[in-house]
Amino acid sequence: MKLAVGAKTDVGRTRDMNQDSLLVEEPLFVVADGMGGHVAGDVASRTAIEKIVEVKRSQSPEEPDALRSYVTEANLAIWEKGLDDPSLSGMGTTCTIIFLDGGVAHIAHVGDSRAYLYRGGELSQLTEDHTLVERMVQEGRLRREEASSHPQRSVITRVLGVDRNVDVDLSDKSVQDGDRLLICSDGLSSMIDDATIARTLGEETEPQSAAEALVDAANAAGGDDNITVIVIDVRGTDRAGATGVGHSSVPAQSAAPTAPPVAPPRRTGAVRADDEPPDPPPSRVGRKITIGLVVLLLLVGGGVLLTRYLLSNSWYVGANGDGIVTIYKGIPDEIAGLSLRDPQEQSEVRLQDLPEFLRGNVEEGIKVSSLGEARETVADLEERSEDFSDPEPEAERTRDGRRKKDGN
Ligand code: CA
Repeated sequence: MKLAVGAKTDVGRTRDMNQDSLLVEEPLFVVADGMGGHVAGDVASRTAIEKIVEVKRSQSPEEPDALRSYVTEANLAIWEKGLDDPSLSGMGTTCTIIFLDGGVAHIAHVGDSRAYLYRGGELSQLTEDHTLVERMVQEGRLRREEASSHPQRSVITRVLGVDRNVDVDLSDKSVQDGDRLLICSDGLSSMIDDATIARTLGEETEPQSAAEALVDAANAAGGDDNITVIVIDVRGTDRAGATGVGHSSVPAQSAAPTAPPVAPPRRTGAVRADDEPPDPPPSRVGRKITIGLVVLLLLVGGGVLLTRYLLSNSWYVGANGDGIVTIYKGIPDEIAGLSLRDPQEQSEVRLQDLPEFLRGNVEEGIKVSSLGEARETVADLEERSEDFSDPEPEAERTRDGRRKKDGN
């Protein structure tokens, strides 16, 4: 199969760093859109690409079920990295893969990045967004035209890296001469609508200029997110199964203002086109990303995966119905009456014995990162509650302010 390829990734106009990654290794193409605190989203999307490249060495994409294993292996790699390093905990990434072989586009997909087919002036989406609004549309609770402006449109219901297992959407699409395929992160599709994408693809003859024009259009519309696009033109199908390796391709040269007519094949590995420093100070991005992730998690009431994720990755100290300070797994908030918490340990501290400002904090839930930190918080509250309720220190207290257990 003869292909011509263009690609570009861009930080956009409002983000501090680009957490998207992409792979152009003809005939395999991947977009991964990372999310998570600090640099974690970047680590997640890079890990996905690196793992896919690694798995590809041992398992050719032609093998049955290979694409699924690309995604599940990438998922596991990110999940394990998150377990090993608390600063990466909870990171995740989307992953959309197209592998072209014998006149067929094989697609593997998780998240809200998208694959499109542009054929005969018509644009059709080949992937289904794993988002809350898409689910609402499917269930008839939201009209399609309302989805793109819905405040929760970026809430993702399926993502790589947050659980040991992940469901992968797999599909095949026959392609023909003249077809143009597009893979993009939501930084494109959330900024410009399908009609604009289609018009841009129709106006630009060369895939690289199409990729650049799409990024420009997303930036012109605000550039609220990182933007990544891969444009793949099918310029000859060979159903005998040849995969167009070698010189038929023009690998992505996305940082260049204009693509060279024939660029050398790209090195295997994550393609980062915008050459930004890989590790900017985490504080600048951490807050935004963390808020984004928390909002994401809070909003997805029905997501079993995320509920499970919350219950296994989040801790807080709150109060139970009897006003007793309790350590919970999960988050204090309820979504549509759905509880996302699970009590773990009940303390002996009563809410009413706490100073008022602390009472409010506990009622809202004090978020902590681990059971150990939760216990420290409870111990701290215990001391403060005693200090507060017994202004006269008692003789039998130990030096650290706690009561001796044996009363001695
Ligand atoms: Ca994004």
